[in-house]
Amino acid sequence: MRNTRQKNLILSIINESNEHLSAYQIYELSKKTIPNISLGTVYRNLSQLVDNGMIRKLIIDGVDRFDKKNRHSHFICDKCGSVIDVFENYFEDTDYIGDNLVMDYEINFKGFCQKCLKEEKKYGIKGK
Ligand SMILES: [Zn+2]
Ligand SMILES: [Zn+2]
Repeated sequence: MRNTRQKNLILSIINESNEHLSAYQIYELSKKTIPNISLGTVYRNLSQLVDNGMIRKLIIDGVDRFDKKNRHSHFICDKCGSVIDVFENYFEDTDYIGDNLVMDYEINFKGFCQKCLKEEKKYGIKGK
């Protein structure tokens, strides 16, 4: 039962967050509810949840981040590193790319987020 409680807690932290949390951030948030939870337990539950298809693992700038299962793409700001969910569909599930059938996809868009773009304009710094 204890294992189920830990797993459900970790799952709900990820599903309720838009922050694309790292394992350590999830561990810190888990401690608020289960103070004696260990980092190892968090890692173990995360990898089980990924294996079971309950959550997705993203690797952004070499760091594992955990995300909701529903399909979406990401906009990643080159300047501040923020990761923003993009829910527009760019393909249907059954589209082909060349001769290859697309079953799923995840696009990473890169550039300046709204906030950084505003600063770039304000200070007249040229992007890149
Ligand atoms: Zn930014
Ligand atoms: Zn996301």
